[in-house]
Amino acid sequence: MTAVGDRALAGLLSALAEAPDYEAASSYLLSQLVEIAGSPRGCLFRLDPAQDVMSLVACVGFDDPRPTPTLALGDLSNPIVLTALALFTIRGEGAAIHGQLDALAPWVAIPLVMPRVRAARERMSAHRARDIAGSLAVEVVRDSADRHDVVPAGAVVLQGPFTDDVLDSVSEIIVLASPLVARRAALSDARDLVERLTQQRDRLTLMVDSLPDPVVITSASNDIIVQNDRAERLLHARDDDSAGRRRAIELNNLLFTSFLSKAAMTGGLAAGPRELNLVDPDEGNDLLFEVLAHPLGERVGPEDAVLSVLRDVTDLRRAANELERQVQRVRQGEITMRGERDRLNLVLENVADPILVTDERSNIILMNDMAEELFEIREAATRNRRELAAVRGNDTKFTSFISEFALLEDNSRRERMSLTQPRTGMELPVEVVSGKVRSERGEPIAIVSVLHDLTKQVENERLYEALKRFNTELEGRIREATADLAEQNARLQWQSQEVERANRLKSEFLASMSHELRTPINALIGYSALLLDGVLGDVNPKQRDALSRGRSAAEHLLALINDILDLAKIEAGKMPLHPEDVPLREITLEVTQQIEPMVRKKQLEYVIDIAPDCPVIYSDATKIKQVLLNLLSNAVKFTNKGGVTVSARCAPGGVRIDVVDTGIGIRQSDLQAIWEDFRQVDQSRTREFGGTGLGLSITRKLLERLGGSVTVQSNYGEGSTFSVFLPERLPAGAGSEYVTT
Ligand code: ADP
Repeated sequence: MTAVGDRALAGLLSALAEAPDYEAASSYLLSQLVEIAGSPRGCLFRLDPAQDVMSLVACVGFDDPRPTPTLALGDLSNPIVLTALALFTIRGEGAAIHGQLDALAPWVAIPLVMPRVRAARERMSAHRARDIAGSLAVEVVRDSADRHDVVPAGAVVLQGPFTDDVLDSVSEIIVLASPLVARRAALSDARDLVERLTQQRDRLTLMVDSLPDPVVITSASNDIIVQNDRAERLLHARDDDSAGRRRAIELNNLLFTSFLSKAAMTGGLAAGPRELNLVDPDEGNDLLFEVLAHPLGERVGPEDAVLSVLRDVTDLRRAANELERQVQRVRQGEITMRGERDRLNLVLENVADPILVTDERSNIILMNDMAEELFEIREAATRNRRELAAVRGNDTKFTSFISEFALLEDNSRRERMSLTQPRTGMELPVEVVSGKVRSERGEPIAIVSVLHDLTKQVENERLYEALKRFNTELEGRIREATADLAEQNARLQWQSQEVERANRLKSEFLASMSHELRTPINALIGYSALLLDGVLGDVNPKQRDALSRGRSAAEHLLALINDILDLAKIEAGKMPLHPEDVPLREITLEVTQQIEPMVRKKQLEYVIDIAPDCPVIYSDATKIKQVLLNLLSNAVKFTNKGGVTVSARCAPGGVRIDVVDTGIGIRQSDLQAIWEDFRQVDQSRTREFGGTGLGLSITRKLLERLGGSVTVQSNYGEGSTFSVFLPERLPAGAGSEYVTT
């Protein structure tokens, strides 16, 4: 210690001990060493075993660039690293020092040591260190192998050259100062560590406090040792808390403690998560927590303490319950849907029209039996080739319709389509009505199509068209016919008017000629009678016979003329009616008187049978008398044996008079003809019976005027019955009409 002196050394050591930190101490030591060694430059590296590097702590005499700040401990070719790890003092020339340290050449590197501590880096074996040093072309000046109580702490590099004495002094100082500097380093490290730990703790506290879940550390006696903010809000009452909050917190503590005790009894907290109910002291709501417990163990102790993390699962449980409810609802919905689908299937199968459901790619996904008949290809085994072709044709038509529809925005579409009935090969006209089924988002997910059979409608349309055509033709024909008819009608009308006019003229002529015709005939009859009566002198038998014949011819002619005139009068509307109460019995007797001579002459039986309850009818007595006379004279005339009966009976609305004879009768074929003018059935017999052929015609016309009628029934050879109906009263207006004429 000659070079430095004890006092100076003591001063240096005490300055080092008082240095505020490791860096200051290192800089001071280095500056002293440089000064003592009379070296222009030097630097001090600290070994940082945790980082596997040596860091530059201080340097003296360097302008920029400064030496490399860190040296890798693995780089044993670096003499500074070798110095520090081997605890050798090494000397060398510049080239051996790496990088910027070239400026230090020639140099001496002296190791720094420190007392052995836990986790310190041990020095490397001297043997190996020497081998390496040998390969580096440096000189190992000293070996501190004798010092077992120390471990590497760094190295000081000084620029040489210096004498051995100086090196001894410097080494001495370093040996003494090293532990001091090392302690300073330990102190600095400890301070750093405390700072780091404090920072770390603060961070962790912040982290734990900001957790939404309460975190609590409890002792074996269930006392809370530590808790985060959230746990404090639930479990720790403050002085300024309201009474309500306090009660809630008390209750929470009770619940938590009892939970911990129970857990301890039933296999310990760590056995698994358990549920814990607490109360929200602020809101008063129930809170549900899931407690995850971890025994702390001896490392973070106390050994029997337990860390409990309370996971707030209130919302989770609520959500879970809600989810469960939803699941139930979905399940219920599924059941309902299944029921509805079954019902739908039932409906589908029972609908007479084919129904198909297609997906968004126009594939058929559902169809009823009717549709299968038309579109189902799966039954291929049971179908022949013609049927399969029909099914394929149907499918092509339907699919192209659906594909087109799927591309449109419309929701429904109707179209006529001509399909083929596979079984019969017959054409099947249908109307396809399709509608889109959309999802909740409005996207089409399926198309439902119903096919209405239009066979009947098409047939009806065809029939309707045919009918329309036929109608039009018919209308045309009717138009033509109507035109024809109108023409004929006009012609007929004209003819009828002409005939009527001619008839009227004829009747008028005859009516007006009555006097002129009857006067000469009456003269003939009158003079014949005078001659026959012998008023004008005697007549011999021959003359009498001739006169008789002439008179009878004249009488016949008069009768004929009378009849013709009567008929003419009726037809000319010039026969007046004189309505009055008609005594049927009286007029029958009157007529009987007129025909009696002939009855007697023919020796016929003659019966009058007038029912006493016959109503008195209001009619024209003269005309009725004429009717009876015509019928009775015919009956007597055409009867040669047997008799004639005239009877009268009540009839609905009037009286019926029957004139019955047992005469020659009339053939069925002649029953119509007897009513015609001048019609006598058997001309050969006319001579026998006489007559004009006008009697029945007049009779019928008279009865028509009186509102009555006459009919005949006869058996040829056996007799005839003429039946007359007379109404109780003349038809309204008939009387006045004829009276005024
Ligand atoms: P006529 O003056 O010839 O009797 P009518 O018009 O009275 O003319 O009768 C027409 C014909 O009807 C008669 O010619 C006769 O052939 C037939 N006829 C009418 N009444 C009878 C009767 N009661 N029995 C048989 N034939 C009759």
